[in-house]
Amino acid sequence: MRIIDGKKLADEIKREVAAGLVAKKREVRFDAVIVGNNAASEIYVRNKFRACEEVGIKFRLHRLDENTAQADLNTLLDKLSNDGYVDAILLQLPLPEHLSSRDAILHIAKTKDVDGLVAGSPFLPCTAQGVLYAIKSVAPEIGGMTAVVLGRSELVGMPIARLLIKENATVIVCHSMTKDIKKWTKQADIIVSAVGKAKLLTADMVRKGAIVIDVGINRLSGGEICGDVDFQKVLPVASAITPVPKGIGPLTIAFLCRNIYNSVL
Ligand code: NAP
Repeated sequence: MRIIDGKKLADEIKREVAAGLVAKKREVRFDAVIVGNNAASEIYVRNKFRACEEVGIKFRLHRLDENTAQADLNTLLDKLSNDGYVDAILLQLPLPEHLSSRDAILHIAKTKDVDGLVAGSPFLPCTAQGVLYAIKSVAPEIGGMTAVVLGRSELVGMPIARLLIKENATVIVCHSMTKDIKKWTKQADIIVSAVGKAKLLTADMVRKGAIVIDVGINRLSGGEICGDVDFQKVLPVASAITPVPKGIGPLTIAFLCRNIYNSVL
């Protein structure tokens, strides 16, 4: 079995981006918007800030109050979309319950939508790119393989499924209403879990030699972070597996940097 080192892969991508940015000889500006006080979002934004600093992207954070009105959020996104100094925009999700991310996203210019959320965006969603990159680091050709994606959210599960289909994998998407998930995962050459439930994927659900990609991020009662996969038990069954932390998380941020870089090509 092989543990896929997401941090190492991410560092390689960030090094390429940093070198490309030096060659560009112009400042690249990335603006992120955060609404309210979601603790997890604070950590994600801090990690994005660090990565931008590391590769040489100028980062600006816009903080909006928990009670911000939809119209005010939309107005800020319109303003950033029309600002010639801003190359890339990210709206940190989730938003407080009274706000619609669907509505807000419509106010991000496609050419600046480095999260790949807007319909018709030229950018692929960062987590989906990270998942594909991790898989290809151990299986360069996935055409014809069977992949099972756990989770069907529009932000995470579905973009991953679409990207795997584009790579000619045969894809089965499972969700909270799927009966007998094990029946599907047992057939899979590749399993990607993007649910948000600790120890959802257990060793008996995995075919010997499968590639297991863990997108989930869960905080246990003691404060430690884990994924959706029962890592220690699945490890001997899988041919390759991503850990949490240091798996898909750093790859997602590296691909965000690459999307920002590509926004000014
Ligand atoms: P979400 O919007 O809550 O979606 C969760 C999905 O899991 C839904 O489609 C849901 O099904 C499905 N689900 C729930 N219980 C299930 C079960 N028992 N068996 C199978 N499927 C089940 O969450 P999300 O935004 O997609 O994020 C998913 C996870 O990825 C979270 O842990 C999040 O923190 C993590 N994440 C990680 C990264 C990264 O960089 N590593 C990036 C983004 C997100 P229904 O559709 O039927 O409700």
